[in-house]
Amino acid sequence: MDMIGHFIQGKLCYDYARTQAVYNPSTGEQSKEVAIASAETVEQAIAAAQAAFPEWRDTPVIKRARVMFKFKELLEQHADKICELIGAEHGKIVHDAAGELQRGIENVEYACGAPEFLKGEFSKNVGPSIDSWSEFQPLGVVAGITPFNFPVMVPLWMFPMAIVCGNCFVLKPSEKDPSSTLFLAELLKQAGLPDGVFNVVNGDKVAVDTLLHDRRVQAVSFVGSTPIAEYIYQTATSTGKRCQALGGAKNHAIVMPDADLENVVSSLLGAAFGSSGERCMALSVAVAVGDEIADALVHQLGERMQGLKYGHFANKDNDFGPVITAEHKAKVIGHIDSAEQQGATVVVDGRHAAPEGYENGYFVGATLIDHVSSDMLSYKQEIFGPVLQVIRVATMQEAMQLINDHEYGNGTCIYTRDGEAARYFTDHIQVGMVGVNVPLPVPVAYHSFGGWKRSLFGDLYAYGPDGARFYTRRKTITQRWPSSNVREGVQFSMPTLN
Ligand code: NAD
Repeated sequence: MDMIGHFIQGKLCYDYARTQAVYNPSTGEQSKEVAIASAETVEQAIAAAQAAFPEWRDTPVIKRARVMFKFKELLEQHADKICELIGAEHGKIVHDAAGELQRGIENVEYACGAPEFLKGEFSKNVGPSIDSWSEFQPLGVVAGITPFNFPVMVPLWMFPMAIVCGNCFVLKPSEKDPSSTLFLAELLKQAGLPDGVFNVVNGDKVAVDTLLHDRRVQAVSFVGSTPIAEYIYQTATSTGKRCQALGGAKNHAIVMPDADLENVVSSLLGAAFGSSGERCMALSVAVAVGDEIADALVHQLGERMQGLKYGHFANKDNDFGPVITAEHKAKVIGHIDSAEQQGATVVVDGRHAAPEGYENGYFVGATLIDHVSSDMLSYKQEIFGPVLQVIRVATMQEAMQLINDHEYGNGTCIYTRDGEAARYFTDHIQVGMVGVNVPLPVPVAYHSFGGWKRSLFGDLYAYGPDGARFYTRRKTITQRWPSSNVREGVQFSMPTLN
């Protein structure tokens, strides 16, 4: 069995004390074994990063950016291999993996602009012969902990920006699909990154807790489920670290009576079922305003869902693949069962999906549930599977109230032709990323990504301009070179220019 190890001080290394099986979700077969790092292994990675920091922070920013230019080139050159590695352990279809990689590469492109965005701010003559400027210094050793659902894109949200800003990084990817992430470390070395600047430790809670408690780690970025995000944020900040922890979601789409229904249906199918619904921005609830549009929506969705194809990740004709594990499949089915038991109507039922030849894969077919209400467990909790629930309301205000009352506030969308309604919605909705006729309003790399409420713990969003601020510390310097001929008196009042 192939073993997936760690990447420390520029080398692959293994610690065999504890290992865990890695599966191909399309077949249900074990494909590899991953080393689960001990605390000592994580400490080695932190020590490697700490040792590399003084030289890396002093490397001119243009040289750090050049490593990112080369890294981008290598990511493009190895795109097929990366997509294959993602598909084999995550299960997403190769065309979807290519989309994930491209969105990740855009973060590397943004990081290449570091000489521009790290320029700082300068004011001449803030006082007599006094100049003042702010500069953005790296923090030191920073850590990232990432989820299974974007094993390439989410790490690329973090480490290119952190590294280009002059930090050294320790990444703890998901233990469920670690191969593609580990491959990024090899490419970064090929791109010319000095050893120790980027390290990867595979593992579980032991590795995470070691990163959280080690005093050498200055900041932690986390992306994953909300209970773990909250734990990470509380622990990291209680040990004096800077932290941003992005959590789970329940993303609603409001379908207004005037919406272009045919386009809404196409758009919802991709946003609800793409990547098997395992996206934190997946649209999992359609809120139909008025029974007439609700009936038409459910009818058209039901018809179009019959044609959806799901199956093995390598078959480009498939629309989506399996979910990540057998346990997760059981959890998704449990949510469908509970919605039915609580009185909802399962219109299209994916619980018994088994594509021919892949009966042991972790498949759940596209599922549509109508007459869902806000007290149902399947509505309150994140399902993270190919399940679209429909809630019927009478007014747009009622739809917005539902969204504002939900504990999550990651993404949302309104489908309408009415500019006034759309403007009111974008202004008043309590959600961090909002679409108007755009189902997955994932900000591009030169904006920043984050939700509201229990979808994000911390003050700054991920990547883009907020990413640059998260991974740097502002220092403001005020400087004077007085003439040596001038003798000055003592001043006890607060200095002013009056
Ligand atoms: P997860 O929370 O189970 O795992 C995320 C990371 O935390 C992994 O590296 C895992 O090893 C680690 N971890 C798991 N349990 C831990 C524990 N008890 N203590 C310390 N570390 C622990 O999440 P997942 O299942 O890998 O990913 C899916 C979740 O991530 C969903 O909730 C999804 O909404 C969320 N997500 C959010 C965003 C976002 O940007 N808001 C993006 C992608 C995924």
